[in-house]
Amino acid sequence: MIELKCVGHLAEYEITNVINLFEPYTNKDYKLEAIFDSPVATAILFEGDKEIFRAAFTVTVTEDELKNKKIMKQGLKKAVYKVLNLATGKEMPWGSLTGIRPTKLVHEQFKHNRSDEEIARYMQEEYFVTSGKCDMMIKVAKAEREILAKNKPEEVSLYIGIPFCPTRCVYCSFTAYSLKVKGNLVDAYLEALCKEITAVAQMKKDATIRSLYIGGGTPTSLNEQQLECLLKHVAASFDLSQIEEYTIEAGRPDTITKDKLRIMKEQGVSRISINPQSMRQKTLDVIGRAHSAEDIKRVFNEARELGHTEINMDMILGLPGETVEDVAYTLEELGKLGPENITVHTMAIKRASRLREELRESEGNVILTQGEVIQQMLNLCEEKMVQLGLEPYYMYRQKNMLGNFENVGYAKPGTECVYNIEIMEEKQSIML
Ligand code: SF4
Repeated sequence: MIELKCVGHLAEYEITNVINLFEPYTNKDYKLEAIFDSPVATAILFEGDKEIFRAAFTVTVTEDELKNKKIMKQGLKKAVYKVLNLATGKEMPWGSLTGIRPTKLVHEQFKHNRSDEEIARYMQEEYFVTSGKCDMMIKVAKAEREILAKNKPEEVSLYIGIPFCPTRCVYCSFTAYSLKVKGNLVDAYLEALCKEITAVAQMKKDATIRSLYIGGGTPTSLNEQQLECLLKHVAASFDLSQIEEYTIEAGRPDTITKDKLRIMKEQGVSRISINPQSMRQKTLDVIGRAHSAEDIKRVFNEARELGHTEINMDMILGLPGETVEDVAYTLEELGKLGPENITVHTMAIKRASRLREELRESEGNVILTQGEVIQQMLNLCEEKMVQLGLEPYYMYRQKNMLGNFENVGYAKPGTECVYNIEIMEEKQSIML
């Protein structure tokens, strides 16, 4: 338990986020003072009344910088990170970086024409980001830069959400209603959605759509007739003649049929996701999926037969009961299928998930995957992606991720998902 006292600032929230990174590694009670006495940020760690570590950083050099609260907070987080690192001996993969997308910082550095080495040094000195993560964020930012450079002012992207799934996965915190419980609402939802699509299309008559993403939930939870009707309505409402990418997150194999794959192809869908999360049957059963690992392969092959040439597959590291060997198995199986994109997520225990409830009720009897094991899993993924010729092109981090890691999208060069980059980097209007 770490008791925090803030002096001379209101950065308690940001500092608490750093403290939370170290909480699993502290087995003593500490008091922590975080002091801002312009321009110096200081953190002092006490055990009982005894000061055990102190770190101080000067955070401003000009009057203008002094007005920037972000710099003050960054300095305080840095000082707090340092004393907790000294007390626990633990380094965090992303250092003191919380609450900001890592690539955003790299793009800032690109604007100043900094070299890769200079950017890495800056990230290590200012945030204590480890060198492996620095390499990753620079690679991703470069891939993003290429896609973002093609943005035109008149272009927008479009997102359409279908909030239904056949069943709810244990880790899910999205707006996703189980068809078993809310299936009777699908038609009414689609009717309202189509009205909204018509209205948005009227408002944005002159916009050129660069990318269109239908996500969820699981859009293929709709039956064939509903799906066809929706896609035809989208095509009739918007001018899709210039579109670069049209994605449907088919997601769960238990919702995908040959007819739905054919409808998607006929309606111009250029990219689909078939998301196994794991290829281990025991895991699929545990996480609440109503399909088999064999279904994933069958659906993937059917998609190929019907001409789907860009397929993404999502996997999650740290699923309940999974080991490094299980992840190796999933990677092997995905490698055999050969998707164009693989997105590697690290499990996040979200507030609205059933898993969080189950963990609370188990009173510590459920063991979550430890940071070190997640790191091994991530290393394995990185190695496998190199073998498969897939490169990292987008990434994001979430709160409550196991081991404080990241989610990374990998793609064969030329098949990067434009929409994913646009939504992450916020460089284009997205109509939702
Ligand atoms: S498939 Fe996705 S949206 Fe649907 S329940 Fe599972 S995690 Fe949630």
